[in-house]
Amino acid sequence: MSWEDNVRKVVPYTPGEQPKFDKMVKLNTNECPYPPAPGVQKMLKEMPYQDLRLYPAPDARILTEALAEYYKVAPEQVFVGVGSDDVISMAFLTFFHSGKKILFPDVTYSFYPVWADVYGIPYETQPLDENFRMVAADYKKENGGIIFPNPNAPTGVEEPLSLVEDIIRANPNSVVMVDEAYVDFGGESALPLVDKYENLLVIRTYSKSRALAGLRVGFAIGNPKLIKYLNDVKFSVNSYTMNIPSLLLGREAVLDDAYFKDTLAKVINTREWMKKELTRLGFSFPDSKSNFVFATHKTRSAEEIFTYLRSKQIFVRHWNLPRIDNYLRISVGTDEEAKILIDALEELLG
Ligand SMILES: *Cc1c(COP(=O)(O)O)cnc(C)c1O
Repeated sequence: MSWEDNVRKVVPYTPGEQPKFDKMVKLNTNECPYPPAPGVQKMLKEMPYQDLRLYPAPDARILTEALAEYYKVAPEQVFVGVGSDDVISMAFLTFFHSGKKILFPDVTYSFYPVWADVYGIPYETQPLDENFRMVAADYKKENGGIIFPNPNAPTGVEEPLSLVEDIIRANPNSVVMVDEAYVDFGGESALPLVDKYENLLVIRTYSKSRALAGLRVGFAIGNPKLIKYLNDVKFSVNSYTMNIPSLLLGREAVLDDAYFKDTLAKVINTREWMKKELTRLGFSFPDSKSNFVFATHKTRSAEEIFTYLRSKQIFVRHWNLPRIDNYLRISVGTDEEAKILIDALEELLG
């Protein structure tokens, strides 16, 4: 016997790398290529630093009220966390407590099985079909909860709201979490359904569409009862996760809707151009409603292309996992970055 026998041992989530080179093109972690809203910078400069002496409001009201107003829900329907990773982690701990298997797709955000393991939640992955589509029937068996991103990651595929609602309706005894990290890039949100279904939790993040991955803010919207249960657990772990700068800066980001919409339009525009160019170069991909394209080439292996791009300091994401090891997930950058990527690919494949 040793103390090590009593350690909680986990295989941690591996985030995408954060390389630091002067002249790199970083298209590997789906960050926004444009700066956060100007109001965020202004608030950074004017930050009331004396306030940092005090604990932040544990209910994070400054931010939940701004989000509630923006999404036209009550503040009691909003839960905020340190990135959506924190929100989802708390939601697993709160809602996936039945001891029954939770369900999520086999090809999806690779953090889900990690949280399930660390909290001892049993799970069963459901295979996406050959076009990376979810099969609604797979989510109509007994379960302890359901989570999936829509649009999905890393495929970029969006399921219609009708399928999402079908799954929610079929599972009144489980909480269904829809992870909408990428929905702002052209997907249809399940938010209008939160008043209709008590068991629906919609999860969002500032990291992709709001250009604030470094701030670490995420949130969930749902029925006030769900949010209360979530807060009860959160207050039993750490009441003060949301620091004062995050609350103030997070509020500024949602106040400037014109800037937000403008940024989204730019990313979507570049994405559509990338799709055309990638097709021309012999790639195929499921249609993407996100800020990345999940592409495979007809003759060259993903591994080879990945290594080649890397040698040019162009970073994309590749997983050595079943079903997706011949795909590259390429984030949408600025027009200039997309052009550098396409030129490099042209040199290799053209
Ligand atoms: C990026 C991502 C998240 C986590 O984002 P945070 O930076 O923690 O807010 C959650 N779910 C999916 C599907 C993602 O791609």
